[in-house]
Amino acid sequence: MKQKHFNIPIFIPELACPFQCIFCNQKKITGQASIPSEKEITNLIEKYLKTIDTQKSAVEIAFFGGNFTGLPLAKQETLLKAVTPYFHSGISGIRISTRPDFINKNNLSLLKSYSVQTIELGIQSFDDEVLEKSKRGYDSKKAVSACRMVKKMGFNLGIQMMSGLPGSTLEKEMETAFYASRLQADMARIYPVVVIRDTVLEKLFDEKKYLPLSLNEAVKRSCLLLQYFESKNIPVIRLGLHPSEGLLSGRDIVSGPFHPSFRELVYSEIWKSILSPLLEEREKKSKKLTLRVSPSEVNYVSGYDSCNKIMLLNFFSRVRILPSEKLNGRYYETEWS
Ligand code: SF4
Repeated sequence: MKQKHFNIPIFIPELACPFQCIFCNQKKITGQASIPSEKEITNLIEKYLKTIDTQKSAVEIAFFGGNFTGLPLAKQETLLKAVTPYFHSGISGIRISTRPDFINKNNLSLLKSYSVQTIELGIQSFDDEVLEKSKRGYDSKKAVSACRMVKKMGFNLGIQMMSGLPGSTLEKEMETAFYASRLQADMARIYPVVVIRDTVLEKLFDEKKYLPLSLNEAVKRSCLLLQYFESKNIPVIRLGLHPSEGLLSGRDIVSGPFHPSFRELVYSEIWKSILSPLLEEREKKSKKLTLRVSPSEVNYVSGYDSCNKIMLLNFFSRVRILPSEKLNGRYYETEWS
């Protein structure tokens, strides 16, 4: 089995969107304004393929952003045709992201005929009030029926959801995660809302009609959502917006919980709550602590900027965090001296 998964991202900006969702400015989020030409697509794939070991990685072409199935069928076909030859060069599949109200039999059949494996739906919420306030242009019934159609046609279903949308609450977000699991989502992405420049949300923010989540609250909600998805064996393949240049420089952000290492913050917070009970072991205060954890968790246990290690060092005289092949998930073993 190939160990790593790699996406070659091709961004399709919002040109096919019939609505302007209040939080969206794809140009600023993706750093791109027009649909790439066939030549640009092939150049991009070849550039990526030079850097990826296709023997060791499962590589997919991913049409992200915008509304893939909102493009005319002929345009969708042109884009799919442009990537098909690469199935002989180690590409194992195609994934697209799109809106639930642009899912129908015709476009699903086209995607099937070009071996698209995964369809990610920008659901954002299954709550009607939140969808209405975000000007998504569809309701929860439509979102549910699109998910069902995608599954029925044998695609993997990805659900993209947002946290902190106007009218949303933690309860509504947990319900969205619950429905995603009921609809047998194969993967999820969680995006806390960030107020991007030149969006309707910026106007609402300026008029004090919308307040984004604090970074702290966004991390806390994401922890709960992530743990819920994990409990249902649904991998969360993205937490937080992809850090484009404009987002990283802060140029395109008005306000909100953007952080380039958002995933790390969430994982650190989960480990913080797992490790906190150690601080209640008063009789061990000032002892030397060795924690053994799964190799993939070492950095998260230590925490973003070593925040968890510092928390432990305030209590114990020495803290070592060591990898152990024996352990997996979020299990740990302690040793005291
Ligand atoms: S559907 Fe997606 S790409 Fe289109 S405006 Fe809304 S969020 Fe942006």
